[in-house]
Amino acid sequence: MHYNRITAPLLNEIKNIVGADQVLTTHEQLEKYAHDETEDLHFYPEVVVKPIDTLQISHLLKLCNTHTIPVTPRGGGTGLSGGALPIHGGLLISMEKFDKILEIDERNLQATLQPGVITEVFINAVAEKGLLYPVDPSSKGSCLMGGNMAHGSGGPRVVKYGTIREYALNFEVVLPSGDIIWTGANTLKYASGYNLTQLFIGSEGTLGIITKIVVKLIPKPMKDILMLASFSNNEQACEAVSAIFSVGLTPSAVEFMERKGVEWVIEHDRISFDLKAEAEAFLLIELDGTDMDVLLSESEKINKILEINGCSEVLFADTATQKEELWRIRRTMAVSVKANSIYKEEDTVVPRAELPQLIRGIKEIGDQYGFQSICYGHAGDGNLHVNIIKGTMSDSDWNTKLKDGIIKLFQLTVALGGTLSGEHGIGFVQKEYMPIKYSNVHLELMRGIKRTFDPNGILNPEKIF
Ligand SMILES: Cc1cc2nc3c(=O)[nH]c(=O)nc-3n(C[C@H](O)[C@H](O)[C@H](O)COP(=O)(O)OP(=O)(O)OC[C@H]3O[C@@H](n4cnc5c(N)ncnc54)[C@H](O)[C@@H]3O)c2cc1C
Repeated sequence: MHYNRITAPLLNEIKNIVGADQVLTTHEQLEKYAHDETEDLHFYPEVVVKPIDTLQISHLLKLCNTHTIPVTPRGGGTGLSGGALPIHGGLLISMEKFDKILEIDERNLQATLQPGVITEVFINAVAEKGLLYPVDPSSKGSCLMGGNMAHGSGGPRVVKYGTIREYALNFEVVLPSGDIIWTGANTLKYASGYNLTQLFIGSEGTLGIITKIVVKLIPKPMKDILMLASFSNNEQACEAVSAIFSVGLTPSAVEFMERKGVEWVIEHDRISFDLKAEAEAFLLIELDGTDMDVLLSESEKINKILEINGCSEVLFADTATQKEELWRIRRTMAVSVKANSIYKEEDTVVPRAELPQLIRGIKEIGDQYGFQSICYGHAGDGNLHVNIIKGTMSDSDWNTKLKDGIIKLFQLTVALGGTLSGEHGIGFVQKEYMPIKYSNVHLELMRGIKRTFDPNGILNPEKIF
């Protein structure tokens, strides 16, 4: 695909659409938008704009489509697969000014908001009304709701409350042609032709730009119990996960953490935590609901299951501060690991009961290809983030041999019935692995969808395929 550069006359047209003060062009201004949280990758856009309404985005896309200028939509820039990287330069549309919660409809338990609302701001706003929006990525303080939708993002509570797909009801979207559509209806059911709302979830800014979001809300459970279970090895901890669900219990979070990850959090974040010598793996388990007696009885049952599965110690968080500290260990793990070493992160997901085989396989592949890894993640969903650490690996092995190891890792994931990403998306860095999971026929169907929405290929090129 050949793309054109943004010429001076085009820049003037862009300024006319959004106003000159919402257009960034200097190297210093563009730097922030040249990277996201994916490894150390940098791609500079030619121009960044910060539109404030849907019509501006419509005019921008129409202009870029006519002149074959690549366009990259960007939310909070916290993505881990390079989805917001402007690979071919062009125009980067930052959604940061779309930051209004338009309505919290307590009668229908729904909210309508702009995609630039910070996820945590939204979660807190609905919580003030006694409501829960349960999709809470660890990056919730800096990622935006539109980015979450475009990436199909998740978080710890997905295991009980369902993925973002269950909460997104309807999107206003601007297509590459500049046309504006609503993808569905503000209803809990939808059997009216192809479900375009679901198609846009995980579309990574390749089909259109989301400009309004309608989501479902649920009543907020007011009681919870948090427990931290220690194990002497990874596989035992992973075995315990499916044992809990097998007896009919559904915690609101079951998070796995390897010892090394906890050590690095303690070091990096100066968290005071009594890390016992024999503890090699942890499960952070949360139960929530409305009746404390029920939760206590469920936590006792879980305690027994943990014991049977080799758990050496269970710590119950007594106070809100202790709960916050334990969650902080899990939530800051990604940042602490990244602060410690050059890394690559893979986002493996398998059927839950296959987790022990996955973690064993990850370590075996690491031994074979000479890399260390730190694994943590949403074990209740069968979703493990594998942080591959460069450590003492030579640059040449890191740049060549490692890729064979990653291919093996994904082959294992797929062989176990899983797929390439549970929540971080394919973006730029995982696209070369797509044929491990998908046949040519499957990939061609996806490409056909892309061509239908974006025949000139201007929206977020080089992503997914
Ligand atoms: C420390 C840390 C912890 C994390 N924890 C989690 C976690 O627990 N769970 C999880 O799922 N992810 C997690 N992530 C990954 C990341 O935060 C999520 O992928 C998040 O959804 C990205 O949102 P964003 O607003 O930053 O989007 P960006 O990175 O800016 O963009 C992501 C993608 O969405 C597209 N996009 C953005 N806005 C729009 C729009 N309005 N319309 C169309 N396309 C758009 C972009 O083009 C890009 O392809 C974590 C990341 C970090 C750094």
